Amino acid sequence: MVGVKLLERRKLYLEFLVEGLNPTLLNSVRRATIADVPTMAIDTVVILDNSSIMYDEILAHRLGLIPLTTDLDTMRPEDTVTLSLDVTATRDGQIVYSGDLVSSSPDVKPVWNNIPIVKLRRGQTVKLSAYARLGTGREHAKWQPVSVSAYKNVPYIEVDKSKCKAPKCKECVNNCPKGVLAVSTKSVRLTRPYQCTLCRYCEYVCPEGAIKVRWHEDKFVYKLESTGALPPEEIFVKAIEILIGTIDSFRSSLEEAGV
Ligand code: SF4
Ligand code: SF4
Repeated sequence: MVGVKLLERRKLYLEFLVEGLNPTLLNSVRRATIADVPTMAIDTVVILDNSSIMYDEILAHRLGLIPLTTDLDTMRPEDTVTLSLDVTATRDGQIVYSGDLVSSSPDVKPVWNNIPIVKLRRGQTVKLSAYARLGTGREHAKWQPVSVSAYKNVPYIEVDKSKCKAPKCKECVNNCPKGVLAVSTKSVRLTRPYQCTLCRYCEYVCPEGAIKVRWHEDKFVYKLESTGALPPEEIFVKAIEILIGTIDSFRSSLEEAGV
């Protein structure tokens, strides 16, 4: 039985504990969150006027990397959304932001309005039409829905009480970069195991060789941060659905081949 416990949830961030799952399966889901869950991103740009200092290619590249809100329930692979930009600077140093893009669809717009695109001098103009479509991170990183999607084993420590000189010695506690160790009677304990980075510096600084950092083989902390294109939980669930679809199609192919 696989157990999941929510540890932290913010608008674009999800952190949860997974127990009893094979790491290869969890890693497959992780890879699907990065490479297979589709989002909208600008893919073609028609530059109508660009008197800025920035080359057209760089401008197009920057536009492609702006995360766009995506509605997977309504968008189809063949759909295209136009985002137009038409700015003439009225003063030196005027910055063109993602919020200046005008979208043809209320469902597809920059996640953030304050992403700088280009800086203009007075009188310089940038006028263009950008076309966004669905794609996946497998094709290009600009379609990745996540900025972080990673897991780590949950650590624990083993302290040899016959060697440990606590509470007189506090080397490991004082040197832990995450501050997650505390001295208890004649020993040391891990106070916040999910924050431990498994760096093993506590082992390195222990003069007695008394502390060992270990980890549970089937217990993981998963951290997922969305770019804002999709809600974080939708990314994870969609990745699982995609994985199930791939396995189903593999099974059908096997059956067709008579395997
Ligand atoms: S492994 Fe690193 S973070 Fe974890 S308890 Fe030891 S020193 Fe601290
Ligand atoms: S550094 Fe070693 S001896 Fe000192 S408190 Fe930590 S585990 Fe014990």
